[in-house]
Amino acid sequence: ARLASEYEKRTPRSRELFERARRVLPGGTTYHIRFFKPYPVFIEHGLGPRVWDVDGNEYTDYWMGHGALILGHCPDLLEEAVRKALKASSHLGYENPYALEYAELLVQVLPGVEQVRFTNSGTEANMYAVRLARAYTGRKYIIKLEGAWHGGYDALHVGVTPPYEGPESLGLPEESIKYTLVAPFNDAGAVERLVKRYEVAAIWVEPVLGAGGGIEPEPGYLRELRRIADEAGALLVFDEVITGFRLALGGAQEYYNVKADIVVLGKIVGGGMPGAGAIASRAEVMELLDQLKRPKGRERSFHGGTFTGNPVTILTGYHTVKHLADNRGVYAEFNSLWDSVRRRIQEECESRDNICWATGTGSIVGIHFTRKRPRTAREALEERWSNKVYEVMHMYMRLNGILYMTEHMAHLLPSMAHSRRDADRFIEVFASFLDEI
Ligand code: PLP
Repeated sequence: ARLASEYEKRTPRSRELFERARRVLPGGTTYHIRFFKPYPVFIEHGLGPRVWDVDGNEYTDYWMGHGALILGHCPDLLEEAVRKALKASSHLGYENPYALEYAELLVQVLPGVEQVRFTNSGTEANMYAVRLARAYTGRKYIIKLEGAWHGGYDALHVGVTPPYEGPESLGLPEESIKYTLVAPFNDAGAVERLVKRYEVAAIWVEPVLGAGGGIEPEPGYLRELRRIADEAGALLVFDEVITGFRLALGGAQEYYNVKADIVVLGKIVGGGMPGAGAIASRAEVMELLDQLKRPKGRERSFHGGTFTGNPVTILTGYHTVKHLADNRGVYAEFNSLWDSVRRRIQEECESRDNICWATGTGSIVGIHFTRKRPRTAREALEERWSNKVYEVMHMYMRLNGILYMTEHMAHLLPSMAHSRRDADRFIEVFASFLDEI
């Protein structure tokens, strides 16, 4: 209550805007996960690793546009890319040299990838990839993992939150998830049992659970999934919407040295602009999207959309990935900074009777108030009492100039614009929060 009253004192404009928003936006939000109690701060602008709310409060941002802003808010190259794009047009709707050049770059930097198609979001990329995997294998079943988030597309909108079964949303008939099987994360045996029972088209994997708590795969797990997929004649799909260009230039495939058959991209692939998504694979799979061919006597698998290949998103994405490719060395430093932050957070937790755990790898950092280190989404959420702790922590951090999402799942997706000093400050504030509770 003390923190809440301080918060209200500091954020009167946000409160006013939230009251107005409730009339015209359901829940007063543009996306329900952006809500926190008693009302969210309304952010007016961002620069580098920081954002400012409508009351003029400054925060170091650890949400970074849902993880899309790997170079921070508004890096110089973004402005240049947008200017260049607008000289072309806000939208062309024709084949254009910019999309071609970006596809050529992606083929160079993503392991095993020979062709790509752009989509308008990570959700959409997953949706078309499901169709593609089914078309390629001639099978229907998809295995996905508990806690993995692939966006709101019907066939993958299951097994995200407890009890990890049944549709995740109203308006989602049981029939639409009939061919989706859910297995726990970090349990290759469970996946193996499913592929033995069902004709599985693809094993859908978020290589590091993002929204499920920033939980890293155990050593050998992804490689086991590769073996299981190969033996079953199923495709291994990596949803790299978070891990792509974050863990390494070549994403989780490069970071863990495990090849996927299809890679799904989003967020960073758009360089911070909306309409960011892509599916990428070898030519033999992608040719199912080729209008000049009907491969292996089959019909094509559909993919398309008004804004695909839009010059603004394509150019911001291109310049971002080109910058990362030209400065490949930054990944070692970036990962080592956040690995060390995770270790230090863990030490703070350990020194207080293991009240919490730091999970993740590289710049995907999760903090969990659980009895033991969570290896799965289920374990991350098993303690109901911790919900209140997360809420208070969120409020405490925000009052100390640190913002992240979500209110009930503390995970950080810092950018390369965050400095060691920012990281030190995070640890200092977090430690003082632990002292308070
Ligand atoms: N896949 C993963 C791993 C994600 O984290 C997200 C979004 O958070 C999505 C897919 C959906 O992407 P989008 O929100 O762009 O539709």
